Amino acid sequence: KPVVAIVGRPNVGKSTIFNRIVGERVSIVEDIPGVTRDRIYSSAEWLTHDFNIIDTGGIDIGEEPFLEQIRQQAEIAMDEADVIIFLTNGREGVTSADEIVAKILYRTKKPVVLAVNKIDNPDMREMIYDFYALGFGDPFPISGSHGLGLGDLLDEVAKNFPKDEGQEYPDDVIKFSLIGRPNVGKSSLVNAFLGEDRVIVSDVAGTTRDAIDTSYTYEEQEYVIIDTAGMRKKGKVYETTEKYSVLRALRAIERSDVVLVVLNGEEGIQEQDKKIAGYAHEAGKAVIIVYNKWDIVEKDEKTMNKVTKEIREHFRFLEYAPIVFVSAKTKQRVHALLPVINRVSENHSMRVQSSVLNEVIEDAVAMNPAPTDKGRRLRLYYTTQVSVKPPTFVVFVNDPELMHFSYERFLENRIREAFDFEGTPIRIITRART
Ligand code: GDP
Repeated sequence: KPVVAIVGRPNVGKSTIFNRIVGERVSIVEDIPGVTRDRIYSSAEWLTHDFNIIDTGGIDIGEEPFLEQIRQQAEIAMDEADVIIFLTNGREGVTSADEIVAKILYRTKKPVVLAVNKIDNPDMREMIYDFYALGFGDPFPISGSHGLGLGDLLDEVAKNFPKDEGQEYPDDVIKFSLIGRPNVGKSSLVNAFLGEDRVIVSDVAGTTRDAIDTSYTYEEQEYVIIDTAGMRKKGKVYETTEKYSVLRALRAIERSDVVLVVLNGEEGIQEQDKKIAGYAHEAGKAVIIVYNKWDIVEKDEKTMNKVTKEIREHFRFLEYAPIVFVSAKTKQRVHALLPVINRVSENHSMRVQSSVLNEVIEDAVAMNPAPTDKGRRLRLYYTTQVSVKPPTFVVFVNDPELMHFSYERFLENRIREAFDFEGTPIRIITRART
């Protein structure tokens, strides 16, 4: 998917525009800490286009002075985006801070679309003429607070999307990424993988964008490790900020089938680990929990059970995820990861037979009748799997309002008991039969 970034000095309305473009999205997730709040990255749609959008204004660069912050944000946009929206404020005219942003953006070869915000009514349109001076062609007048002009702006943005929006890799290639806090051992694990016997590294892939993925083959299965370079430290100021690493992680997750959530056995589980794991779950990816640095954990025969219990308690929303204890340093059990990756990847794209599925649901309903509400009982007519990655089921019922979260959980558990969906989230959608 193409990536769009919004840049501009503070107070031009970046987050308002971001939220307008993203639209209202209701989070379906209950107990995941802080995933959708405080958002700087999201998928969005305009007409037939699917894209991702970044609000660079939400990435605060530590203690840096204000001008340095907006410089860094413009750098991020140039590094991360396919199309850049340069946002200004029509009510204040062109300011010197706008000129600084412009100067940085002159260096990019990526398309820049200039938008002038806070043009709340047609009488104000003449305010946009000053902005030609910034040198990015026709300015697009918009109003974030009134939602005006966004259609024309997005048409222009979409015109500049890269031509090949096709698939990056063939379907039978397993794409996975490693995510986790700094220093949990992601890069070490990648090196340990690639150093395995019989692993054949085909190339450090030049995808259309950056050379960031690594392809390899093991026992005739092709794999791509997504965003390997994102784990290296390249020494730019913003790369150490938390928001930026979240942004990288979100982008890697999105391009993956399987996500390895790496924990650091030396430090144990931390709040940030939960947040990171929540992103993978919410994105509907297959998930494996990798407990790294097992070599330096002081242990007896009970330790593995104890840690497993602790992980399960902290990551309740990842009940389905297998846990693998490894050491990137000694390579202990690193070889055990590939079979697990294969297995969860298969489950992630598994389709079950409708007849069997409906038997499972009927048995479930017989065992534990559906809830009633004000004298009306939920009736389940028919269930069908509508998609994979993750497996998604539609249950046709008399009235979706009668479906409760707890009953949905019950059905999910029955489906999980009947089929092997280890490692993958599954989704249940309730629809009224028409
Ligand atoms: P990243 O930031 O997640 O990519 O983490 P790195 O791979 O750079 O590792 C951070 C530090 O932890 C380095 O000093 C590694 O040598 C060390 N490290 C990584 N994996 C292990 C492990 O399994 N055991 C031990 N003892 N150290 C490890």
